[in-house]
Amino acid sequence: MIPSLPQKDSPSQQQQRKQELSTLQSQYIYDHDTRVQPLGVAQAPLPKGQNFSFIWGLGTLNQALGITANLISIGSRIFDARPSNQPNESSVGDEELSKVEEAYLQLKAHHLNLSRIFDQTHVLSAKNTSVAHEVASTVQAAVGAVTARFSPGGSGGGSASHLTPSDIHGAHPALPESLDQFGENLKSTLGELLHFLVSEIFELFLRYVGLYGQASGLSSYQAQFQLLPLPRDAGVALDDLMFARLRVAGPNPVVIRRITAPDSRFPVTDAHYRLVMGEDDSLEVAGKEGRLYLADYQVLEGVQAGTYPTQKYFTSPLALFAVPKAGSPDRLLRAVAIQCTQQPGASNPIFTPKDGLGWQVARLFVQVADGYYHEMISHLGLTHLLVEAFVMATARQLAPEHPLNVLLTPHFQGTLAINNAAVESLIAPQGFVDRLLPGSIQASTQLAVDAVLRFQFNHELFPLSLAARGVDDAEALPDYPYRDDGKLIWDSIHGWVVDYLSLYYGSDEDVAQDYELQAWLAELTSEQGGGLQDIGQDGAIRTLAYLADLVTMIIFTGSAQHATVNFPQSYVMSYTPSLPLAAYAPAPTAALASQPANVDALLAYMPPLQQSFMQQTLMELLGKLYFTRLGAYDRYSATSYFQDPRVRASLKSFQQRLEEAESIIARRNLHRIPYRTLLPSEIPQSINI
Ligand code: MN
Repeated sequence: MIPSLPQKDSPSQQQQRKQELSTLQSQYIYDHDTRVQPLGVAQAPLPKGQNFSFIWGLGTLNQALGITANLISIGSRIFDARPSNQPNESSVGDEELSKVEEAYLQLKAHHLNLSRIFDQTHVLSAKNTSVAHEVASTVQAAVGAVTARFSPGGSGGGSASHLTPSDIHGAHPALPESLDQFGENLKSTLGELLHFLVSEIFELFLRYVGLYGQASGLSSYQAQFQLLPLPRDAGVALDDLMFARLRVAGPNPVVIRRITAPDSRFPVTDAHYRLVMGEDDSLEVAGKEGRLYLADYQVLEGVQAGTYPTQKYFTSPLALFAVPKAGSPDRLLRAVAIQCTQQPGASNPIFTPKDGLGWQVARLFVQVADGYYHEMISHLGLTHLLVEAFVMATARQLAPEHPLNVLLTPHFQGTLAINNAAVESLIAPQGFVDRLLPGSIQASTQLAVDAVLRFQFNHELFPLSLAARGVDDAEALPDYPYRDDGKLIWDSIHGWVVDYLSLYYGSDEDVAQDYELQAWLAELTSEQGGGLQDIGQDGAIRTLAYLADLVTMIIFTGSAQHATVNFPQSYVMSYTPSLPLAAYAPAPTAALASQPANVDALLAYMPPLQQSFMQQTLMELLGKLYFTRLGAYDRYSATSYFQDPRVRASLKSFQQRLEEAESIIARRNLHRIPYRTLLPSEIPQSINI
């Protein structure tokens, strides 16, 4: 099939396109009445072809194996090293010990069961040649790494090998008939595991192994990582320089904006400023030179705090950062001052790094606010849910032979499936978001929904949003890896999109006359469709240049922007002290400023260990699954995805630009604190986790 524009087809081809679209519109139906109402998301069950792929399933299986192996290793340390029947020092009574042992056995059985599903994949992949190659080359290696380190009966496996299959499921799971059935089995097995992890007997297990209640030191959080490696960036938030660097290279590097001076909400004085930046600099000069940056979490003001499973706390902080003046030994961003809420006053003091424990707690409140903003606004709202609108409009309004449908479809793989799972379980009452994030579940969901409804698409194209935040000046703000690497990726995608679209659209007139494209835009903006605003050129798409920007933004959001916010979940956020997803005590008062810095005193504010365990589990599950790769459209197929031979040259130069970007970023990382998030090799081409 060679793609074509509808207006250039023959009348009978046009008729055929209409029929195809009519069928698709009966399959892709908006549901405006879910937990994310009034946003329209795909009605469940999803259309055929939109479910998770086999290879994706294997990736998830790999993460689940890692998580259970890690837990068994933690348990094994206590159980298998314990002199027989000597109770461990713990808060578990004797009468509960048998339940703990039962939990440990169940844990092993879950792991064994996951391993057995993995074993089936060898047979399945042999029977399905289309996936065999990929399974052999990548996923097996990854899963093998985990299973080799922890095989039942092996060194870490303790007594798992004595378990019989009936310990958990009854019969040994039969070899599934099809990949679909495999997917269903995997889904239910993972569901059972997650159910077990929130069960009462598992809570007893956590108590018994010392992973429950308030931590007694940072070592308690570190002890959560037995087989799983402690994240490379563990502890970044407890160091002032790295705390500031999270603003430009962390999970949520999209908040800071340049200011000339703090406004009346945040009366930072020159004295505050000089305490941190030195006597030979001043607030006024820094403002004039464009060296002041504000992280403002005003959007969280008035958001209702959550109480599940216990009272949680967060605030809407203002945090001031500054770049040392030109000629300084380094020009990395510095943290200058934090005010925990929006209104200044004696009960809401300004803390600086000289304020001991007060500063440490204020810093933690910025991390909590940033994590909340990150998950609900930057991640769920402005990548997952935003892209859903385009998936739906594309399937319903651009015929399968439309060149833009052909281009975009690979960038949508798995998006409806992961979003459906998010809406149905992640943001359900008592689900992960309700449990871990600091706001009530209604308030959290609303943050994500409002972010999409208020998104000013035309003003938020990546380069424009950098300019709007005043962070596009590399002289004033030299170290901003997200900006610098993001530009490389944006430009690569933009070049590819222009080349590709130019094969089909010879002029602006071709764009304006593409009636499928105009219907696509109408649906994106309609309240019965995507409900987006500030998109299009006065209600239409009129120029090829605009269309190229718009399409670049869609692909960038589904690939690079999602990678930006998704993968640091594992290498920053899975270690709770780096980014606690909620605080567990109220914001600091002025009195704390006179207390000396003391990490142990921070523990009362940090998530209890059982909450921290759930945070680790979720962040490991979401933050380590790399399925597909930007630009590698043919990765899972023996034939070329693009059937139009004219596409090959453009695609090849796109892939070459990505390779160049890979080496440029690798070289940059020799001269800066490394930032790996936007290495093209670590950017999947769609949102699927
Ligand atoms: Mn994600």
